[in-house]
Amino acid sequence: MEPNIKLSPHFTLRELVRSGKAIALGIDNTPPDDVINSLIIVCCRILEPVRGHFQRPFSVNSGYRCPELNQALRGSKTSQHMLGQAVDFEVPGVANYDLAMWMSTNLIYDQLILENYKSGDPGSGWVHCSIISGKNRMQLLTINGNRKSEGLIA
Ligand SMILES: [Zn+2]
Repeated sequence: MEPNIKLSPHFTLRELVRSGKAIALGIDNTPPDDVINSLIIVCCRILEPVRGHFQRPFSVNSGYRCPELNQALRGSKTSQHMLGQAVDFEVPGVANYDLAMWMSTNLIYDQLILENYKSGDPGSGWVHCSIISGKNRMQLLTINGNRKSEGLIA
């Protein structure tokens, strides 16, 4: 699949599979075809609405991870990144808490996690969000290190 193909108006396949870790370790992170369909849903229903609302470009920290890459990153064994259903990102100039708050009230999602955000440090942490084509759980969590809490906690 051509990496410059657009999955949605502002996001290419390349951005959703790019990984410094994969390059460093020589891992081929090319997704299978069924994953592409999931990535399109992520782009159209998560990333594009965020871009449209905040009106600024941003890049994805981590999208698809092949199983080998997910293991190298010490991701969860059931990580939705391996299915192309999850994305980690930040929006420049927007506190990750505010980003997660907007997403939680405006988007359909399977799981939305505010990760490693420190109150008083707007740039800290990141937002993880997943979406599936079936029924989404709308599960909202805050994770700091090993501490996992329901809902959004500043
Ligand atoms: Zn993630």
